[in-house]
Amino acid sequence: MVVGGGYAGVMAANRLTKREDIEITLVNPRDHFVERIRLHQLAGGTSEAVVAYTDVLSPRVRLVVDTVASIDAGVRTITLGSGQEMTYDYLVYAVGSAGTTRVAGAAEHAYGVSTYEEATRLKAALDTAPADAPVIVVGGGPTGIEVSSELAEAGGNVTLVCGDRLGPWLHEKGRVAAERDLRRLGVGIIEDARVAEVLAGGVRLDNGRELPSTLTIWTAGFAAPDLARASGLSTDELGRLVTDETLTSVDDDRIIATGDAAAPSGQAYRMSCQAANQLGPLAAETVLARLAGATPEAVSIGFVGQCISIGRGLGLLNFARRDDSAVAARLRAVPAAKVKELICRSTVWAMAMEARRPGSAIGFKDRSRAARVQAAAVTPPDRDPSRLG
Ligand SMILES: Cc1cc2nc3c(=O)[nH]c(=O)nc-3n(C[C@H](O)[C@H](O)[C@H](O)COP(=O)(O)OP(=O)(O)OC[C@H]3O[C@@H](n4cnc5c(N)ncnc54)[C@H](O)[C@@H]3O)c2cc1C
Repeated sequence: MVVGGGYAGVMAANRLTKREDIEITLVNPRDHFVERIRLHQLAGGTSEAVVAYTDVLSPRVRLVVDTVASIDAGVRTITLGSGQEMTYDYLVYAVGSAGTTRVAGAAEHAYGVSTYEEATRLKAALDTAPADAPVIVVGGGPTGIEVSSELAEAGGNVTLVCGDRLGPWLHEKGRVAAERDLRRLGVGIIEDARVAEVLAGGVRLDNGRELPSTLTIWTAGFAAPDLARASGLSTDELGRLVTDETLTSVDDDRIIATGDAAAPSGQAYRMSCQAANQLGPLAAETVLARLAGATPEAVSIGFVGQCISIGRGLGLLNFARRDDSAVAARLRAVPAAKVKELICRSTVWAMAMEARRPGSAIGFKDRSRAARVQAAAVTPPDRDPSRLG
């Protein structure tokens, strides 16, 4: 049973078809695959951001269009939103993430872009707003950069409120390049100020300044759905299921987490399609190993960099070490935009290929992770030796 049909869930379900004698069910709320990495394009009207499951999911996988409302690990049962109960032998938890809005007024007045439904609602609002209506995008991360540039390129009057800095995770040279191209598209950039409150017609910053906005778009912060925590499973502060390094839940070895919703050793990878595409097949390998009575291997994935679109015509590829720390090497402007489009297409190709030839998807390895995980491991308070005796 795979819960969640995003990048990680589809990859996991496809990889599970390596074994012919098992039944694989995928539960997802929609009957089509959502290309989340194109949701800013959906909002801006340059992509539908959907792909038919028949194009990316193996015909051996049964798709159930529903939402998992709860997991009862004790009896290995899930309850669907429709009320139906289903049993499983192994459950792959791949529910992804969504935006979080922790600031006053954001839930009422801000639009999101982190789910298909949010992006569709945002597009409808943009379509009916006056062309020169002020738009504020909150959050200087990759999603904020992609959304603000997409809308500014289409002629929007867009201001990006970054919080501390624009793209703080980028190398300084990459950051400067991103800023230059955003400004070239006409995006106003405000740094060193956080949105303290979203109002009906604007935002109030933490320095007291108020900015008018017809549409405020919230991109600052992502968290996993509440399903695991509400089902009594251990989660981290962002709701991700805590697992060991084989992606197996620390509470139950029949539950394997993957993608944005997984926190291996409590030290999650960056929420990204880049990680989800690699973690999906590896979650399936853990299930396959357990089914075969073997000991699953610790998973290892690595990053290449961050590739951000800046409108349709520009982009930035800031390369990174395998551990995701940015380096100075970068590709920018038009070549980076072309690479970004290639990446978007290749994620779909990779799922389609894995559906046809399970085992074909390969990832990177970050050999430094084991040492980092060990060094950062925190002794739980009740096992703290200094408290014993
Ligand atoms: C605008 C935007 C641009 C992005 N661009 C990039 C990028 O360029 N590069 C990059 O690496 N990352 C990017 N990301 C992040 C990337 O999209 C996510 O990290 C990635 O989608 C995670 O994959 P996933 O399979 O874990 O989750 P998802 O793709 O979110 O899939 C999870 C699925 O589970 C479903 N689900 C949730 N709850 C339940 C439930 N209870 N029952 C059943 N199903 C459920 C969801 O509806 C969804 O279909 C971007 C995100 C956004 C919003």
